[in-house]
Amino acid sequence: MKPSHRRPIIAANWKMHMTPQESIEFLRPFLRHFTRELPLDTVICPPYISLPAATEVLSDVKQVGLGAQNMSAEPAGAFTGEISARMLKELNVEYVILGHSERRAIYGETDAEINRKLITALEVRFKPIFCIGETLEERDGGKVEEVLQRQLVHGLESIGPRRVTEVVIAYEPVWAIGTGRTATPEQAQETHAYIRSVLSEMYGEDTAQKIRIQYGGSVKPGNAAELLSQTDIDGALVGGASLEPGSFFEIIRNVAEAIPGESA
Ligand code: PEP
Repeated sequence: MKPSHRRPIIAANWKMHMTPQESIEFLRPFLRHFTRELPLDTVICPPYISLPAATEVLSDVKQVGLGAQNMSAEPAGAFTGEISARMLKELNVEYVILGHSERRAIYGETDAEINRKLITALEVRFKPIFCIGETLEERDGGKVEEVLQRQLVHGLESIGPRRVTEVVIAYEPVWAIGTGRTATPEQAQETHAYIRSVLSEMYGEDTAQKIRIQYGGSVKPGNAAELLSQTDIDGALVGGASLEPGSFFEIIRNVAEAIPGESA
């Protein structure tokens, strides 16, 4: 049975999609679906350039939070093309995705850099969505646990038990991202349980039980509720299926309806 103190969190990672105007055109119909309070957190992470438009549309909306897809670890200065935590804060951003596998693989972000970003994000009281996950080669080579343990231990270095409960871990097997190939609920649960066991070794069982762990990788309306029914799966990070308001809300509704005592 899933502990009810971990509130489910469904986040949309729009990646490099959605201009400011397209973001407004997404959000207006999307928000109309929220006809009553739902027992979960919903987060939209648009590209930087579309954040001001999203901030405006979401200004009086309590049920949908705003996140960025990345940020600099530096507070300010000569870092051309970078965006600071303070800039995001001014736009009412609450969440920030850090260490996404595309940032690691395409832009060469290391565990150490991601750790610095996590520390900066927690200093300004963001809720970081900290992505970890193995490649297909690493899975086939029997290295899943070794990779996840390394990413967790280095990524969370010097972050203490009080602050770590603000972090949302997103387990995203790289082979399941944008491929249509989802981990089975059992496969995902097994890995989430392993992640929680590493967190328990690092912080103790009580703290590990408080940390939300999302699954990401080809989550769709048809598989979200089953994935989230697993004991250690507390949410979803959604790419492709978050780009259309109806399909993203269907994920949210299916998950909400599967929470005992709820119907959306
Ligand atoms: C992602 O990149 O965070 C993701 C989960 O993408 P998709 O849902 O498209 O697999």
